[in-house]
Amino acid sequence: MKKATFFLLSSIILFSNCNNPKPVNKKPKLVVGIVIDQMRYDYLTRYADRYGAGGFNRILKNGFSLENAHYNYIPTYTAVGHTSIYTGTTPSNHGIISNNWYDKYLKESIYCVDDTNYKTIGNKGSVGEKSPKRLYTTTVTDQLHLAQNMQGKTIGISIKDRSAILPVGHTANAAYWYDGGNENKWITSSFYMEELPSWVTEFNNNNKADAYLNTTWETLHDIKTYTQSRSDNNIFENNLKGQEKPVFPKDLKKLRGQNGNFSLIKTVPAGNTYTVDFAKAVIKGEQLGKTKFTDFLAVSFSSTDYIGHRYGVAAVETEDTYLRLDKDLEDFFNFLDTEVGKGNYTLFLTADHAAVHVPSYLQSLKIPAHYMSTKEFRDFILEITQKYFNSKELIENVSNYQIFLDKAKIESLGLDLNVVAQKLADEVINFDEIYKAVTARTLQTTHFTDGIMSSLQNGYNQKFSGDVLMIPNPATLTSGRKGTSHGSGYSYDTHVPIIFYGNGIKKGRSSKKYDITDIAPTISNLLNIEAPNGTSGKVIEEVLDK
Ligand code: ZN
Ligand code: ZN
Repeated sequence: MKKATFFLLSSIILFSNCNNPKPVNKKPKLVVGIVIDQMRYDYLTRYADRYGAGGFNRILKNGFSLENAHYNYIPTYTAVGHTSIYTGTTPSNHGIISNNWYDKYLKESIYCVDDTNYKTIGNKGSVGEKSPKRLYTTTVTDQLHLAQNMQGKTIGISIKDRSAILPVGHTANAAYWYDGGNENKWITSSFYMEELPSWVTEFNNNNKADAYLNTTWETLHDIKTYTQSRSDNNIFENNLKGQEKPVFPKDLKKLRGQNGNFSLIKTVPAGNTYTVDFAKAVIKGEQLGKTKFTDFLAVSFSSTDYIGHRYGVAAVETEDTYLRLDKDLEDFFNFLDTEVGKGNYTLFLTADHAAVHVPSYLQSLKIPAHYMSTKEFRDFILEITQKYFNSKELIENVSNYQIFLDKAKIESLGLDLNVVAQKLADEVINFDEIYKAVTARTLQTTHFTDGIMSSLQNGYNQKFSGDVLMIPNPATLTSGRKGTSHGSGYSYDTHVPIIFYGNGIKKGRSSKKYDITDIAPTISNLLNIEAPNGTSGKVIEEVLDK
C-alpha cells in the first residue's frame, strides 16, 4: 500500500516536471511580505481598469486572491495590523494593543516600539531608539530563523519605524526605516547592529529623494479620466501646507520647505517609489535569495496611509497614488524575477487596515457618520463618576476607546472596581457617539464567537488593556472634518486584500471569509516550519499548491 502511494506521488511529480522544469515542492529562496498601509480591498476593484498588466493584475491573475479577508480585532491601527499579519494572532495574545497606549504599570503613554535601551544607528538623535520588546509572541520570520538554525536573513523595511520593526520580530537581521526632516537617511537601531552596512550608507549618500521632491506632483493621466474620484477641489480633503486648495498640480519643490523638507516624501507617491528603491538595494546588498536557506523580506508601503489620511477615500490624490503604486509594484516584481528568479520566490500582499470614507462626505450623502469630541467625552465620564461615586478622580486615562481606572484611588475610597467599571459601561452608552460598551470583566468571563464583540475581545489583552472598552457608532472619527482615519471593527476598516503569489501558490480566488491572522500559519505551512508561538489563525489550504 505504502509503495503504491509512493509510486503515484512520484508519477505526479514527474508529470508536472514535463511542463515545468522547476521542482514543484522546492522551498522558495525568498519570501516577500508586502503590506500596503491603509489599502482598502475595493482599491483593487475600484481602479481595476486603470491598473497595468504587471502590477496588481499580475499577482491577481497568476496568484491566489482572498476577496473576503478581514481584520478580526479592534483597534485596526498600523502597529497592530503589521504585528497580527506576521504573528498569526491578535492583540489578546501578541500584546501590541495599539500604536500608542497607556501603560498602566508605568502610568504613562507609550509608543509601541520605543526602547531607550538602544541607540540610533546611521544618524544622530533618538529616532532609532527602538526595539520589538513589547511584542510578546514570535513572528513567522522568527520561526523561519529557528527552523533554519538561525541561517537565512530576515529584514524589515518601511518609511515608518513600527512597520519595519514589528513584522520581523525578535531575531531579525535588520529593520530599516526612514528619517526625514533635513536628514534623508534610512536608519536602524542598535538592537540590530552597531553600524550601518556599507550598501545602506551608499544608498543614503545617493540622495535620490531630492530628485523625487524637486518636482511637481501631477496626475499620471489626464485628470478628467479620474472618474472614480470626487472632483479635485472639494471640502472633504486636507491640504499640504502652503496650498490654498487640495488640488493638482502640487509643486513639491516649492512646498517641501513648509512640509518638513524630506518628510514630504512620506506623503506623496514618490515615498512608495523610494521604498521600492530601498527594497531593491536590500536584496542586492544582502544578496537575498541566493543561498540554500530561505530569506524573508518584509516591505511596508507607508505613503498610501499618509495620503489616505490627508485626502480620504474617493480622492483624485488617492486614486493617483494607487495607479502609481501599481507601476512601482510592476517594477519591483520584474526586479524579483531578474534578481531572485521567477519561481524562486513567494510573496503575499495585504494591508494593515483599510479606512472609512470621509465622514463629512458620508453625511453629505445622508449616510450616518459622526465626529466625536474626546474632550466632551472626558467631561461626560467625569460627571458619571461624580454623580454615582462622588469623585472625579477615579479615571487615570482614556485612550483608544478604553477607560483605565485608578485602582488605588478606587480602593482608598472603599469602592469596588467592578461596580465602578460596570456603572461606567452602562452610562457611557448615553453619550451620542458611543454604540457599545463592556467591562474588562465581561470580556474575561464571556466568549464572543463572532461579530464586532468578538473583534473587541480579540483586541483585549488582559495584561495591558483598560477596564471599560467601548465601540463608537459606525463611521465615527475623533479627528477633524477633512480627510479620514481608521481603527474600528467595522468592515470599512477590516476588509483588506490578501493575495498570495509565486512558489508553492495556486492560481485562483476565493470569497470565503478569512482572517488576517491566517497569513502567518499559511506561510509557515508552505515553508514547513512551526507557526508563530501565539498563532490563533488557520492554514488557508486552498491557496497552497502542495
Ligand atoms: Zn496603517
Ligand atoms: Zn493611518
